[in-house]
Amino acid sequence: MNVRMSRSPDEVEAMQRPDWRWQMSNRITSLERLQEFLPGFTPTAEQIAVSKRYPFAVTPYYASLIERADVSDPIYQMAVPQAAEGIDAPELIRDPLGEHQHSPVPGLLHRYPDRAVLLLNGLCPVYCRHCTRKRFVGIEKGAASDEKITLWADYLRKHPEIKDVILSGGDPLTMSNRRLERVLEAVRSVESVEIIRIGTRIPVLMPMRITPELCELLDRYAPVWVVTHFNHPREVTPLAAEACERLVRAGVPVNNQSVLLRGVNDHPDIMESLCRSLMRNRIRPYYLHQSDIIQGIEHLRTRTSRGVEIMEALRGRLGGLAIPLYVLDLPEGGGKVPILPQYIVSQSPHKTVLRNFEGRLVSYPEPAQLDSPLDTLQRVQRGGIADQLSGVRPKALIPQGYKKPHERGEDD
Ligand SMILES: *Cc1c(COP(=O)(O)O)cnc(C)c1O
Ligand code: SF4
Repeated sequence: MNVRMSRSPDEVEAMQRPDWRWQMSNRITSLERLQEFLPGFTPTAEQIAVSKRYPFAVTPYYASLIERADVSDPIYQMAVPQAAEGIDAPELIRDPLGEHQHSPVPGLLHRYPDRAVLLLNGLCPVYCRHCTRKRFVGIEKGAASDEKITLWADYLRKHPEIKDVILSGGDPLTMSNRRLERVLEAVRSVESVEIIRIGTRIPVLMPMRITPELCELLDRYAPVWVVTHFNHPREVTPLAAEACERLVRAGVPVNNQSVLLRGVNDHPDIMESLCRSLMRNRIRPYYLHQSDIIQGIEHLRTRTSRGVEIMEALRGRLGGLAIPLYVLDLPEGGGKVPILPQYIVSQSPHKTVLRNFEGRLVSYPEPAQLDSPLDTLQRVQRGGIADQLSGVRPKALIPQGYKKPHERGEDD
């Protein structure tokens, strides 16, 4: 195939119409209709079958970024169903992160002690083929009801250890400003909540949604942080960059999480170029995610060793601020774990030998003093290996009486 799109500037302008309501209501939701927008594209029967199993939708804006209607195009790969999606790989599952285990109240995830995620809806401008929440996005679309919002706020009030509330979905920014404000208001009414994050791919999929009114709204509930999801430098278009700039100017820091995807961005040069484009636009690369083991994405998965290789290449090529943390969200609800190349080559009590990105081995002399005067301060017990190291819990690998955060009472 490899048909390069030839669109006239007028056609591109029409597809990129700067009106988000228009973009939402003119989403392309069938592969048959997509043909009108992608000259040379003919969906196969398998692709059509897959698009019925896992919902398909794409905004005219995002479709306009597709340059070739085949898998050599990263935007096509992320937006258009492929036959391989229909193949169920035996080790892949629907809810690999065990999110349901950590949900004390419908739509609220409490996995880490100080953070909670609210799943506001299941509606997205585009149904990304690599989506972790494929099990419900595009299927259960409804926006958070007043009832749910009240339940969430009650839970947050009962759990003052939650300081950081992450609004997610679906995409929270597909909701109207008014609905979104309901949520922001309710979350802010809980005094123990310090920061609100919004996880959204809107700057990538429908940047015209980032209106001055929305920015003003977010600023009113400050501090609000946006975490977005650019995967490829081609997504960092002038319109996307301007949308992020509006957020940053309104005092909303923008961070990015990418997903490592086979044939899309699993190459050091592409990742470097993505990180540079983000940094030029004041977007901080936060995480690079190893793919979750969800059904329907086997063809987009990359080996962890490839991720390590890429991280190895980025170190030294890019400044530290531009390098995301590579993380794997463990199956079975184990949570996120950072994965790094090995830098410590060897250790003795007196020296640590490390290698740098060039392969140079250098030893670092350790200080003679072992203890810190601060060791006399009582440590707050937080669980995990940190407690084992400090001797608070000398042996337990799994702390005795461990309770999931959502099962803990107020005195725990
Ligand atoms: C990723 C995630 C968070 C946020 O984690 P950070 O490392 O703070 O970005 C919170 N809750 C759940 C369930 C998550 O998967
Ligand atoms: S925007 Fe996010 S939640 Fe929605 S389909 Fe894409 S990856 Fe999934």
